[in-house]
Formats: sequence, C-alpha cells, structure tokens
Amino acid sequence: MHRYDEAMERLSAEVLTYARERMSMDPVPLDGPWSLQELSDAAGQTITPGGIGGTAALGLFDTVLSNACLSVDHPRYLSFVPAAPTEAATLFDLVVGASSLYGGSWLEGAGAVYAENQALRWVADLAGMPEQAGGVFVPGGTVGNLSALVAARHTARARMEHEAAAAGRGVPRPSWVVAAAASSHSSVSAACEVMDCGVVGVSTDAGGRLTGAALAAAFPDAASREGLYAVVATAGTTNAGIVDDLASVAQFCAEHEVWLHVDGAYGGAALAAPSVRGLFDGIERADSFIVDPHKWLFAPFDCCALLYRDPPLARLAHTQRAGYLEPLTETAEWNPSDYAIGLSRRARGLPFWFSLATHGTAAYTSAVERTLEVARYAAGQVRRRSYVELLREPDLSVVLFRRTGWTAQQYARWSDRLMAANFAFVVPTTYEGETVTRFCVVNPRTSEADIDAILDTMA
Ligand SMILES: *Cc1c(COP(=O)(O)O)cnc(C)c1O
Repeated sequence: MHRYDEAMERLSAEVLTYARERMSMDPVPLDGPWSLQELSDAAGQTITPGGIGGTAALGLFDTVLSNACLSVDHPRYLSFVPAAPTEAATLFDLVVGASSLYGGSWLEGAGAVYAENQALRWVADLAGMPEQAGGVFVPGGTVGNLSALVAARHTARARMEHEAAAAGRGVPRPSWVVAAAASSHSSVSAACEVMDCGVVGVSTDAGGRLTGAALAAAFPDAASREGLYAVVATAGTTNAGIVDDLASVAQFCAEHEVWLHVDGAYGGAALAAPSVRGLFDGIERADSFIVDPHKWLFAPFDCCALLYRDPPLARLAHTQRAGYLEPLTETAEWNPSDYAIGLSRRARGLPFWFSLATHGTAAYTSAVERTLEVARYAAGQVRRRSYVELLREPDLSVVLFRRTGWTAQQYARWSDRLMAANFAFVVPTTYEGETVTRFCVVNPRTSEADIDAILDTMA
C-alpha cells in the first residue's frame, strides 16, 4: 500500500487526468442528490476485504458518486453561499494533499505557516487591523466564531479575576452572555450552546442593521452589562447581505470594554471591493474578525480566516498543554493551533495563498466587483419585471425577492424543477416570516444571461 510502483503510477495518471478534466469543464454539470436506494443500487458495497482497486473506485466516483453531488461552482448555483475556487487554488489543493504538511506548528510547518500568514495579513490589511494582528485558518465560520468567542470569554474572565484579586474580593461568577442581532448567523447561537452561555438578542434598525444605539438600549446600565463579554456584529448577513453599523457598535464596545467580534464569513470578502468598502467602516476596531475564503474569496473548502487584534489573548485561551507538546508550547514561535479550537490541522490556507500569489490582489478586487455588478443587475431586473418584487436594495451580492402570489409550495416546486432539469439551484428562504427566494452571487462566472434565464422561469 505504501509503495509508489507501476500500478500507482498508472493510478496517479488516471486521478490527475480526472482532476484536469473536471477543472477544464465549462460549464460543469449541476448534478444533484440521489436517494439512498439509487446510490446503493448503482454503487453497492464499495469497501471489501480485498479492495476493488483504484481504477474501479475512481470509476465509481466518476460515474455515480460525483453525479450525486451538486457542483457548488456551477454558475447558476445561487443558493446558500456558493463557492467558486480559482483554478490555481484548486490545483494547489492537490499539492497540499500530496505534501503531508502539518500546519499546526512552526516547528513542523514553518514554510506553510509563513505563506498562510501572508495571506492572513492581506485580509487583516483589507480590514485595517493593526500590525500585530494575526490568527489562523480554521475549517469554517462556525469554528471561527466559536474560537473567537472562547478567546473573548477567556479574556473577560481573566480580567474579572485580576480585578477581584487586586481589590481583595472573591471572584464573581456572572452569567456570561453574548449580544447579537437575530440576523446573526446560526453558528453564533450554536457557539454559545457549546460554551453554555446566553445570547441576548438585540433589535436592528429600519435597515436591518445592528447599531450602537440598540446595544445601549438593550444594556443601559452596569448591572445589565454584567457578564456581557462580547458583541457579535455581522458584516454581510447570510440571508440578506446586510452589513451592521460597525462604527457605532465598535463605539459601544470600546466604551464598555466589551470584545467586538465581526462575523464576515460571507461578506468580509467585499472589503476588497472599493464600491462597497465604506459599508465596513469601523471594522478596523474589531477584536476578532472572520471571513471564509471558501465562500467569496475563491478558495476550495474548507477555509475560514480568523484574525485577532491582539493574538496573545487568543493564545492564552487556546494553547493546549501536555508533556509531549512542550517542544511546541515552550517557544515563542507562531503556532497556528494556539489560536483556535483544534490541534492537528491541514495547511488549509495554502490553496488561497497560492491563488493570491499567482494572480495578485488586484484580480481579487476585480472578481469581487464583477459579482457585485451581476448582483446589481439582478436587482435591476427584479425591479423591472412585473411578476417579481425586490425585498431590499442589496448591500452586497445577496438579492432577496418575492414572486408575487406564490405560496411556499410553489417556490419549492419551482426550485425542484430547476434542479431536476440540471439548470439551476435556487432554493426558497424565509424573510420576515414570508417564504421568498434569493440569489447569492459569489461566482464570477455567473453572468447577466444566467440571471435573466432564471428569472424567465418564474414568469
Ligand atoms: C456561512 C456563515 C457562517 C458559518 O460558516 P461555515 O464556514 O459554514 O461554518 C457564519 N457566519 C456567517 C455570516 C455565514 O454566512
């Protein structure tokens, strides 16, 4: 099994040919889920004591398994948040896989960590974070939000303990809470569930934005702020693409010494786009910030950039200690695992780094601007067509709209039909209690013609 012999040479040619063909397809097939019965009929039992052989397994993947998976990079896949990795990023994912890199520590992966940190620095510069900012690439926004909130609470608890000790008082044990708007991502309440802390829902303004004024109203005095250790602001809500009023939220956090975490898992990519950069003013004051390159920065799954203003605080919260780890923990070097949940890690920032290094950052700006242009076109078309109504002017690249008169069932049937026809993947969503639908444009291959063709199916 561990020998690169002639059989492996043949298999590697087959695998690389497959990868090359998948990458050069234009467009890729949309595909879609098969039922368990269909899959077991077509693929059967794939694991046997003797093995079926690499060629047969690859054949199964090619003719069955891959066809039962949606192609997230299809230009008319506009549901949830799609992905559109660059060819360079995808290619380098193969290299990372082939290289047996351990990305958790400087000792084991210095070269990989060096490159990942330059990619993180680009993101930190987009946000205007200070020179000492730094962090780590984690699997996704969920782990990023959780890791940031763990660092925030650890910091708040340490400060409380320190103040109590200095005053000769007992250490208080507040009920820890996070403040967030209802429009924040589900992973924020999931993180609080894991951490056994509360979430105080804060109302949003007429534009759907979390503001400093709403926070001040929800937390009017010191007693109400007891235990409040973090505010989560969203820079691009997943459902509607709304950027919270980061400047006033940052002001509230600074006044009351509360950690500001900015969740830009989807929208943070738009920091690279001058046409909307102004919406993010205030982000430079965040204590922590995430953006998923696997969403709108053209990296393959799974990749979330997590940044801290003051990385040593995160290190205090996250470093795992054990006798066998002392060669790593007793040094001053940059160990990515010190900044998030998790110890072993794939150098998952490298495909993103390679693509940035290959194409340069200006290409990222153009690609993000292109998707914004197509989203604005879509909003314009929705406004122009009589049978659809725009629900709000898009801040970013999410276009929320209703088909006049349709029931939830009609949306579902329409959506299923588009997928079954291998034409498009657009699912319904709920907005302010109503079933509607949305386009999320993050793929620079999505064109105005794709938008028109999908809207035509709703007439
Ligand atoms: C997608 C998303 C997340 C979760 O990210 P995963 O990478 O799916 O774990 C968190 N916050 C926002 C705003 C998101 O859009």
